[in-house]
Amino acid sequence: MKKIETISPSQIAMLKTCRLKLLHYKQYGEKGYSDHPSTVLGNLIHKMYEIASSKKLDDQSFEKHWKEELAKASAQYFKNELNLIYSPIEFWAPYYSIKKGQTKKIILKSAKEPAPNKNSKKGEGFYVEQSFKYGVLKGKPDSVYVKDGYSRLIDFKTGPIYKKQGNQYVIKDEYKIQLKAYGFLVMKKKKISAPRINLILQQVNGQRTEPINFSNEEYENFYYEAKASIDEINNYVDSNSIDLLGSPSESNCKFCLFKPKCHSFLSYLDANNVPYAVIIETPDEIISTNNGIRFHDFYLWGIPPNTELEIRGVGKKKVLICNLSKSNSNNTYYWKKQSQVYII
Ligand code: SF4
Repeated sequence: MKKIETISPSQIAMLKTCRLKLLHYKQYGEKGYSDHPSTVLGNLIHKMYEIASSKKLDDQSFEKHWKEELAKASAQYFKNELNLIYSPIEFWAPYYSIKKGQTKKIILKSAKEPAPNKNSKKGEGFYVEQSFKYGVLKGKPDSVYVKDGYSRLIDFKTGPIYKKQGNQYVIKDEYKIQLKAYGFLVMKKKKISAPRINLILQQVNGQRTEPINFSNEEYENFYYEAKASIDEINNYVDSNSIDLLGSPSESNCKFCLFKPKCHSFLSYLDANNVPYAVIIETPDEIISTNNGIRFHDFYLWGIPPNTELEIRGVGKKKVLICNLSKSNSNNTYYWKKQSQVYII
């Protein structure tokens, strides 16, 4: 297992939720796992911002690049056969047309922003998807404007920015910490004082947060903690005890792609009822029923007959079935289109 050298602002939240997930992510990326097409759409939108950073786009050239990049992203995505259930991306990625339209609007508008010119002071200008690196932190903010010792950074989000907390809506924790990481990079690399860095989250529907600021101390503490946490993870790698980094829980693991590889999750699942996953330990003990299968004390309804046959055929191995839904009132799980089977 390789040690972590750098992390990006979008991975910082994993230091708080599950450090093992971060380590897996750095190690394996998303290879070998089915992923939701909303991620592909998000990457496509970021790619368009990257293109817009090197050339000015108009309506026609935007459409041309979008088409080309979508074709490339689709070809890559569907190399993984597990993803074929989400073909075509335009149909399965939520709000595809709206997000594309909003991205175009923002990019065409940003083409009118002032670009660095020969009269600009050193480091001033408008930066789109430019890479910033400081110590263990490396990231590409979507858009940074620097002028007269002031900076405005905008991070575009394809999903909702807010979550409900009590009676009010607040910015999601993972987005706030991500913004702080970007702000820290701007502070260090563009030498802007902390209070003069305005951080904004903008949804592709145009909704924006008020500017957010952090103090110098908040930025420095943030980086100190992130660096210490990465050093600690690397110590676990050195001592060959990475399983101790796992923080399995129903919510932490729900969307984690690394469940089949994760000993922490599999032990957790042995001891706890999780509504989206089951383990079948000896497939030859499966009993067929009218609606699906029964295994010991639970039912799994709607499992396709071919999948049932495949599971029975694996012999005396454990099988993990993920992405299920479960009845609240009894021990019945339901097979969904996104459900997947792994031999573990
Ligand atoms: S499955 Fe759970 S415990 Fe394992 S890496 Fe993912 S989030 Fe962490």
